Order: sequence, then structure tokens, then C-alpha cells
Amino acid sequence: MSVLVCGGAGYIGSHMVAELLENNEDVVVLDNFQKGHRDAVIGNVKVYEGDLRDRKILDKVLSENNIDAVIDFAADSLVGESVSEPLKYFNNNVGGTISLLQALKDYNVKNIVFSSTAATYGEPENIPILEGDKTFPTNPYGETKLTVEKILKWCDNAYGIKYTALRYFNAAGAHISGKIGEDHRPESHLIPIILQVALGKREKIMIFGNDYNTPDGTCVRDYIHVSDLASAHLLALNKLRQGGESKIYNLGNGKGFSVKEVIDVTKKITGIDIKAEIAPRRAGDPAVLIASSEKAIKELHWKPKYDSLETIIETAWNYHKNHINGYDK
Ligand code: UDP
Repeated sequence: MSVLVCGGAGYIGSHMVAELLENNEDVVVLDNFQKGHRDAVIGNVKVYEGDLRDRKILDKVLSENNIDAVIDFAADSLVGESVSEPLKYFNNNVGGTISLLQALKDYNVKNIVFSSTAATYGEPENIPILEGDKTFPTNPYGETKLTVEKILKWCDNAYGIKYTALRYFNAAGAHISGKIGEDHRPESHLIPIILQVALGKREKIMIFGNDYNTPDGTCVRDYIHVSDLASAHLLALNKLRQGGESKIYNLGNGKGFSVKEVIDVTKKITGIDIKAEIAPRRAGDPAVLIASSEKAIKELHWKPKYDSLETIIETAWNYHKNHINGYDK
């Protein structure tokens, strides 16, 4: 039996592939390579190029392999872009998953782990955020992921497709080997941007707002190591394989760090002074997002391994300083 990883050449997807291979799973990757990198897929993996909205490629993948479970990362994920291009996001993120689910139904594949997001909550009502808290996305990206969660619920009801939706907080860090890491084009995430400043590729980091209601005025986020996210997916997958019910889990470390704290820790780890400048707030940023992951810890027996911000940044630094141009040779 093989696990199909949709979007397996992306940042989290490629770490998922590594986690599966380390656990002796057979892996098949489907990626349209719009954002993914061929060099991010390392090891003995069968790779197909194609889009989830293309039924022909899904038929090929599902008929040529003995797939028992799918992990779906294939999506557009830029919050700002989703606000200016909502139709692109609904088309790809919702349309792509509907197409995938139709094929899973037709090929009798009953298990799916779905990549969801803390953006499903919008402005939180409580900190830490619990899975049962209200979901009111403040951008189309979060809305598309919440929409898919609802579609999954009804597909379970009608077709018996079991799902786990994992709502990530801030994915960060890189594989411990230093071979794969984060390379978005353009880069918009905090830690890689700070590291680009450390590497002299950018002059400074712009801090988006210092007038939030937080201890130092900058936004507080819950950073979770990408390999810890991957390990949670595998636990979720195995639980589904053992007959587990469909569930939704938060994935975070339950600890918040401000933008200024992240910059300070990065300065300490790299030993490089990092120039920072205060800029206006970024639209749609809540002041504080911190997960309660008690449910995943209790029910999936999930134990994050790289749970200190120092370790997360050290692994990211290890990747970035050895891949100054990301996956470009
Ligand atoms: N951020 C920042 N400057 C940047 C990029 C990000 O101040 O150049 C802030 C952003 O406003 C947020 C935090 O860093 O409060 C994390 O942002 P990121 O884009 O990494 O993740 P998000 O929280 O959007 O998922």
C-alpha cells in the first residue's frame, strides 16, 4: 500500500515525504510544480506532475498505484493574494479538493489527512485557541480551508471517507538533515525573511506593526517545527487506518513569541546583527494566535520534538546558510 502526498514538493509536503520514508512507507507524490520544487522531493518516491483539478492525472495516479491513504497539501496559501484573488483560491483549494474527493470515492480510498490552518478561526475569541472555538475566517484563504473541512464532513457522512483536518499555526524550521527547507517565491514568512537579512540578501526586516495589544506591541504567533507537523500527519493517518473517526486538531506548541522576540533569537543564533524597521500593520493580522494542541497530544499521542524557538530557528538557519538561493543550483 502507498500513501499519496498531494503537494509533496512544497514546504510542508516535502517534509511529510521525508517523514513517511523514514517510517518505511511507500510514497507517491502528485504536484503541479507551480510552487513546489523538484529538488525538495528526496528519496525513493514516484512523482507525478499534475493538478488536482485534472481528472486524467488522478485516474493515472490512482490506477497505477495501490493507494490506501492521501495526505493533501496541494493549495495556494498566500493570505494577501487570497484577498485580491478569491476566485483563484476557491477554484484551486476548494475545486482541487472536490476533484480529489470525487476520485477517492470512485477508487474506494477511504482515508485522507487534510492540511488546514489556524486561519479558519479568524480573530480568536480565546487564547489558547481550542478546536471548538468559533470559526470566522477573515480572509479567503482561511475560508477555502474551512469550506473543505465542511465538504469533508459531508463526504464522510455520504461515502464513508474518513478524514483528519489539521489546523496548523506557524509552520517553521527545516529538516534536521539540512537538505530540505523553506523556499517560497516570493518569500513572505517571518523567519526566512529574517534569515535573508542575516545572509545579506535583504537590507532589513520590516516589522508589521508595533502598536498591537501585546507585551512589546508586535504580533505574537505560535511557531511549530515543520517536521513536528509531519509527524502529527503520520500519527493521524495511522489512526484513520486503524478505524479512527474523522477529527479536527490544532497543531502548535502552545507558546507565543512576538515578532521582536523572533528577531532577537535569530540574532543570537546567527551571531549577526539584523536590521529591523517598524512598518504599518499588515491587513488581516490578528494580534495573538496561540494554539491549544492538547487534543492532538492526548488523542494522537503527538509529542513535538523540536519545540523550542531556538531549535526551530537553528534548523532553518542550517538550511538557509547552505542553500543561499533556496533550491536553485
Ligand atoms: N511579519 C513581519 N514582517 C515580515 C513578515 C511577517 O512583521 O516581513 C509578521 C507578521 O505580521 C505576523 C508574523 O510576522 O505577525 C508571522 O507572519 P508570517 O507571514 O510568517 O505567518 P502568518 O502569521 O501570516 O501565518
